[in-house]
Amino acid sequence: VKILAIETSCDETAAAVVVDGVKILSNIISSQVDVHRKFGGVVPEVASRKHLELVNPVIREALIAAGLDFTGLDAVAVTYGPGLVGALLVGVAAAKAMAFALDIPLIGVNHLEGHIYANFLVRPDLPFPLVCLVVSGGHTDLVLIRHHGDYVLLGSTRDDAAGEAFDKVARVLGLGYPGGPLIDRLARDGDEEAVDLPRSYLEEGSLDFSFSGLKSAVINHLHRCRQQGEEADRAHMAASFQKAVVDVLTAKTLEAARRYGCSTIILAGGVAANSRLRSLLDARARQEGRRLFYPPPVLCTDNAAMIACAAYYRYLRGEESPLTLNAVPHLSITGR
Ligand code: ATP
Ligand code: MG
Ligand code: FE
Repeated sequence: VKILAIETSCDETAAAVVVDGVKILSNIISSQVDVHRKFGGVVPEVASRKHLELVNPVIREALIAAGLDFTGLDAVAVTYGPGLVGALLVGVAAAKAMAFALDIPLIGVNHLEGHIYANFLVRPDLPFPLVCLVVSGGHTDLVLIRHHGDYVLLGSTRDDAAGEAFDKVARVLGLGYPGGPLIDRLARDGDEEAVDLPRSYLEEGSLDFSFSGLKSAVINHLHRCRQQGEEADRAHMAASFQKAVVDVLTAKTLEAARRYGCSTIILAGGVAANSRLRSLLDARARQEGRRLFYPPPVLCTDNAAMIACAAYYRYLRGEESPLTLNAVPHLSITGR
């Protein structure tokens, strides 16, 4: 089954062709980061316009790289939410046009489900039940996956998403955008114990997250240093901040795995590329006899191959979308 998928939920225009949810024939990602960098973040209206310019060339490139023309496809998949409404609409319109013109099924995919399925793309035999930590630019969700397509939301952030916290802290450290990979790199030269930062665990037993207090603590520390006429060591701050985030993510993910009897844990979303999160959660999971899996970095951040993979399992279940499919900007992982 050959599925072409389109992803335009945020600031990457992406298209991919994947066979049977595992064989990536092409995975084209045109990132707009250079366009948005001068604003220090994604500007929604600019993103929509860029998607409009790029969507057809990116689809064409994905087909050419896969050695296909339009006739070789079994279905067309598209991210319909969550994301920026104007950005999502570009992909949704393109996918509907293709599905109608080619008379093949249209499959709407939840972007967060796509992030989760980056794991199945490389490892289709993952054993259920799974606990997945979805950590991205806009989300921090702990999800229990009982079967393909069966999700229970166990907890999520009450304020900033993990990736958002990385990006904001990188900005106050003057590192640039997007901040996650820059903090990850700089933290290697810093001491994780150098700056004492708070870790928010919320009420006893809660699987929710909160990162805004940590972000404020970083800003306050930098101000205090400046008032005393000294510059804070950026590498120490990056390492200490990263450790504070990763400690909480690790503790709550393991708690969820224990509570729901999951011997396998997976990571999804852009922050799943973080080297410290991977190493700490892997070590702690092993101590308890659990296994951790995560996709390669290029499949952690936004791409269309993960959307094609999620769509494949929907295709197997016969879950097609009507040609009236619309963008749903606040779609949650449980589909509401
Ligand atoms: P969402 O998926 O919630 O809609 P998004 O699509 O914008 O949001 P992703 O593309 O999944 O987010 O991930 C981007 C985020 O991942 C950014 O916040 C970026 O800083 C972060 N990120 C990427 N690599 C790393 C890394 N190595 N360490 C920490 N954060 C990272
Ligand atoms: Mg992005
Ligand atoms: Fe994403």
